[in-house]
Amino acid sequence: MKYLTTLLFVLLVVAGCARDAAPAPTETAVAIAEATEEPLAASKDPTQAPDSISPTSEPTDGAQATPVEAVMPSPTTSPVASIQGESKTQCSGLPTPANPEGPFYTPNTPERANLIEEDLGGEPIRITGQVLTTKCEPIAGAMVDFWQTDAAGEYDNVGYRMRGHQFSDENGRYQLETIIPGEYPGRTPHIHVKIFAPDGGELLTTQLYIPGVSDQTPDGIGGFRPDLLVQELPSADGWRQMAFDFVVATDG
Ligand code: FE
Repeated sequence: MKYLTTLLFVLLVVAGCARDAAPAPTETAVAIAEATEEPLAASKDPTQAPDSISPTSEPTDGAQATPVEAVMPSPTTSPVASIQGESKTQCSGLPTPANPEGPFYTPNTPERANLIEEDLGGEPIRITGQVLTTKCEPIAGAMVDFWQTDAAGEYDNVGYRMRGHQFSDENGRYQLETIIPGEYPGRTPHIHVKIFAPDGGELLTTQLYIPGVSDQTPDGIGGFRPDLLVQELPSADGWRQMAFDFVVATDG
């Protein structure tokens, strides 16, 4: 009888321990549930943000309408501003118009970016710019071949006076130092130019005109057009500084 009583006591103790152990898995389940809710709550934040703007902000306060309006312009304005600031050009992608070659082109000109020689006279100018594709990407290694009259309006059709070619640099840039060309009968003052692709293919034949000079003189042949006027910039390094970007159509 004494053993039976002891056995019953032991069984009751074991049963009690088993009942006490039961909450342990329940606690871990709660912990797991909490752990899974946290990421869910975090993942809701981005999705709740747009939802919460309209329902919660409209009825309670109008303050949240301001951030919505402030966020919208910033992504659209900043890239445009940075592009203009970096390139310093206003490339529209429209090809530069062709203009007549005329009868005085001479191939195989010397490579030089400065056409000014001693006793040349005339008013020195410096023209800089880029050779660009219609996607406004620079063309490196393009041959830019200039020819023009001297200040008296005369071409050198024997030698290479006032003639020279150069190659655009890695950013498609070129720079020409020359003089304002003189006027000859039937034409407003102009600078001829041919542009060849790095593989030698001809990309463009056109002419440049000088503001305040070319556009004030009637052009009997009709080559002058306002969109071929170079842009006058503030003087730099004592030079009368001008700019013109060539946009050329390429097959690529
Ligand atoms: Fe000419």
